[in-house]
Amino acid sequence: MTSHLDATALAEAGPTTEGDAAWQDDVRAGVRHVRDLAELPLSPAERAAVQEAASRHKVRIPKAYLDLIDWKDPADPIRAQVIPSADELVASEGELDDPIGDHDYSPVPRLTHRHADRVLLFPTYQCAVYCRFCFRKESLTAIGRGYTREALEPALAYIAAHPEIREVILTGGDPLSLPDKALAEIRARIEAIAHVRLLRIHTRVPVALPARITPGLVAALQGRLMVTIVTHFNHPREISDAAEAACRSLRQAGFVLLNQTVLLKGVNDSVEVLEELCRELMYRLGTKPYYLHHGDLARGMAHRRTTIAEGQALAEALRARLSGICNPVYVIDLPDGGGKVPLGPCYVEARDGESWRIRGLDGEVRDYTEIAGRR
Ligand SMILES: *Cc1c(COP(=O)(O)O)cnc(C)c1O
Ligand code: SF4
Repeated sequence: MTSHLDATALAEAGPTTEGDAAWQDDVRAGVRHVRDLAELPLSPAERAAVQEAASRHKVRIPKAYLDLIDWKDPADPIRAQVIPSADELVASEGELDDPIGDHDYSPVPRLTHRHADRVLLFPTYQCAVYCRFCFRKESLTAIGRGYTREALEPALAYIAAHPEIREVILTGGDPLSLPDKALAEIRARIEAIAHVRLLRIHTRVPVALPARITPGLVAALQGRLMVTIVTHFNHPREISDAAEAACRSLRQAGFVLLNQTVLLKGVNDSVEVLEELCRELMYRLGTKPYYLHHGDLARGMAHRRTTIAEGQALAEALRARLSGICNPVYVIDLPDGGGKVPLGPCYVEARDGESWRIRGLDGEVRDYTEIAGRR
């Protein structure tokens, strides 16, 4: 048995080492329980919704993230992502507990295998911050389900028995909410499996609890494997000096940084916001915009979902304005396990044999005749 506790729980319990003091303070001074929300300057509507909304999805907000909220703005994009709202209580027909079909493709506990060469591994179902729009919130409401060595044994045995698996994606929950020791142990177990080439970590810690990216955490992840950290920034206001420092540490450790963004109505569904976000991600954080996700069918989230047509218009505008490396791919994760399918705009207007009509980035349609080698 290693530890039932995740790092945020450890912060509440202590003891601390010097390098960990900063983020542990952030956790302790943040929102840890529903009752902590009462001390925030919430609107009467938010206050009325808090108890019930919090019963649907856990509440946790580190101080570093709370401090980014402009409380004078009722529609603040940081506030919208973490403060429970009455809108969440309205479930729409067709919304799902498992919006992307994780469970249908889970041959053993804590693992999802949908694409031959890569698996999702869930070392913990706890997070440093709980986002109201989370597509895994139904998994995360279960009490506990933190990391233990025993809980991962069947998943690790499965990976070892499947030589086609080249990438192991730690997700959850938030893997970087685990203690360094647990991360080092998981990394060592995975790198002992010879056919695994790359370790990927999907995390919101650089956004919400950036001080957690300590030298100890970085060292825990270094070893034989290529490491890719996939961050989750949704708004340019989340790019703080602390987030920049966290990303710099991760890059200097030799990790590849990518970012996924969830398209959220009222948070980032404007060309200007997404354009600034993608530029700052690449130019300031060195984090390549990877996916722009269409909002999943998570329960009670209709108020944050755009239409697909709105998403496509945004993706087309971004393609015209941003360099290739600053451009994310707009995708929808199909509910029945169909995977992440690109929904980006289609530039082909018409085709007749080898003659194509293709729209340019300036909107003008051009003729293009293909000339290809023949057998
Ligand atoms: C998202 C996801 C992946 C990773 O997909 P990429 O397109 O490689 O980022 C792998 N497996 C499952 C089940 C997923 O949902
Ligand atoms: S950090 Fe990720 S897994 Fe956790 S609540 Fe937010 S979106 Fe969901």
